[in-house]
Amino acid sequence: MLICVCQEHLERALDEYTEEHEVAPSIFLRVQLEREGKEVATQCSYCQKESFYVVKGNAD
Ligand SMILES: [Zn+2]
Repeated sequence: MLICVCQEHLERALDEYTEEHEVAPSIFLRVQLEREGKEVATQCSYCQKESFYVVKGNAD
């Protein structure tokens, strides 16, 4: 599970991830993952804004 969010929705993504997986996820900057060549959504999962953070587990 990988959630891309804007700054405003970071907390919501953390809550949803934690609820579903019962462990806290890690927070990455989208630009950081893009630099590593990973494909991440440029739009927030909850609104129309550009994504800034990526919330995901270490194994994802
Ligand atoms: Zn958002």
